[in-house]
Amino acid sequence: MLGLMMERPLLLSGLLEHAASVHGDREIVSYPADEPVYRGDYGKTAARSRRLANAMRGLGVHAGDRVATLACSTHRHLEIFYAAAGIGAICHTINPRLHAEQIAFIAAQAEDVLVFADAAFVVQAEAAVRGGQVRAVVQLDGGIAGPAVVPAANGGSVPLLPYEALLAGQADVLSWPEFDENTAAGLCYTSGTTGKPRGVLYSHRSQILHAFAVALPDVAGISEADSVLPAAPMFHVQSWGIPYAATLAGARLVLPGPRLHGAALAEVIAAEGVTIALGVPTLWVGLIRYLRSTGQRLPTLRRVIVGGAACPPSMITAFQQEFGIEVRHAWGMTEMSPLGTIATPCAKHGGLPEEARTRLQAKQGRPVFGVEIRIEDEAGRPVPHDGRSIGEVKVRGPWVCSGYYRCDEPGTHDAEGWFATGDLGTIDEDGFVHITDRRKDLIKFAGEWISSIEVESLAMENPAVMQAAAIGIPDEKWGEKLLLLVVPSPGSTMREDELLALCRARLAKWSVPTRIICVASLPTSATGKVQKNVLRAQYARCTPAVPLG
Ligand code: AMP
Repeated sequence: MLGLMMERPLLLSGLLEHAASVHGDREIVSYPADEPVYRGDYGKTAARSRRLANAMRGLGVHAGDRVATLACSTHRHLEIFYAAAGIGAICHTINPRLHAEQIAFIAAQAEDVLVFADAAFVVQAEAAVRGGQVRAVVQLDGGIAGPAVVPAANGGSVPLLPYEALLAGQADVLSWPEFDENTAAGLCYTSGTTGKPRGVLYSHRSQILHAFAVALPDVAGISEADSVLPAAPMFHVQSWGIPYAATLAGARLVLPGPRLHGAALAEVIAAEGVTIALGVPTLWVGLIRYLRSTGQRLPTLRRVIVGGAACPPSMITAFQQEFGIEVRHAWGMTEMSPLGTIATPCAKHGGLPEEARTRLQAKQGRPVFGVEIRIEDEAGRPVPHDGRSIGEVKVRGPWVCSGYYRCDEPGTHDAEGWFATGDLGTIDEDGFVHITDRRKDLIKFAGEWISSIEVESLAMENPAVMQAAAIGIPDEKWGEKLLLLVVPSPGSTMREDELLALCRARLAKWSVPTRIICVASLPTSATGKVQKNVLRAQYARCTPAVPLG
């Protein structure tokens, strides 16, 4: 027997209009580049999104069309999210720091018809236009200097239109269309560090269910009273779905624009009274360093959600012990919208001594409802949940991709629909997942597996180490050997022998680095993750006889 409940579709336009009517004057703040701070609210965002939707239709955007963005996190980017999805089109966020060839490739594959670009990324928009189907580029900020066109591949050009002028001519009235909640709403390509980028196509239903999960008390814990700062850019898994979760809760949303270094983050957090901030570990390395060097404190900041890469225990200790800010460590990926697990201690962990609590929080945590998780050995057999046995993490759920956009890559999903994440880890008796490595970052030394995350986390316990990356480099005798690259903390002198002694004391013999090299910085992607593929290529020929760094 079926239940007698209405079948109303979960649509993003409904989410926005709900916030406009119930939380209409709750503020949305944005820090665009080279412009004064923008202060709007959910009511204004809905009105401007309707104007933009009318403008998109005027430019010939139809349901199902892909509309690309090359932009930082600002109010305008948020309006594009809602306007495109609202009319049944798809907001395709492109990472502006991708190589021009990659931008051209994904814009061509996605068949984007329109590109919205920050003034700083109009050059990248040219690459997208070269890709093929783009009919116009809309510049989000700044004035248009010179001819208002962008060159196209065939020697022609497409118009370059100013965003605000486009909106000004439009009515802010629009009756959003209703359609199936499984309609595509957003498109995001994976970083493509191991091959061509692959498109992940989110639906209205997946985005809204994901937003409900993100907002839960034991996940990001977002309430109307919060001021939320998504420091993960909108082109990195659509700011981890935080804009939607904030809209759902009616929380104050603070969009930080392009400036994400430590000083800028501290300034925005203090000025806006941010209570919850979310981002990758490298951003927090910058913030912690800034707070230490200036003595500034952030009394409003209650919680930091760290994800996208492993959060070292030393970062948890710094935030919690030094600055009184709770850390929640989360794991996920583009293919998972991105939320999979979060390490919020349980009721029974209340009395845990500090060190044990930190160890628990350094795990990636338990799955949220909606994400099923299992770990399997290479033969596809389930691995016991004993906190020791390592297997590949597989996931399933309503916001996990069922395939890639226009790409039939075999082997990513099994017959029961489980998606193989490529991450390796353990699950303990309480269901806490611990990611030991990405399969491709794992190092095999003399037949023994080394977890790069374990080595990096240990190195960062040394106060002289600000950042660390462990990589395997080819070695004739051992297969691979372990190279540890470290960025010293400012003002400290890195003592290699001290670091080696720490590794010898705390790691299995085979996990002790063959070589430690001090470097000024580590290459990071636009999303702030250390690019180990770049490091592996750079240091491939590094032998103990060749001094580097
Ligand atoms: P992306 O799709 O670019 O966000 O990358 C997803 C990948 O980042 C995952 O498959 C993991 O390898 C890694 N990752 C994300 N969060 C964490 C975390 N908390 N700890 C360790 N690795 C993580």
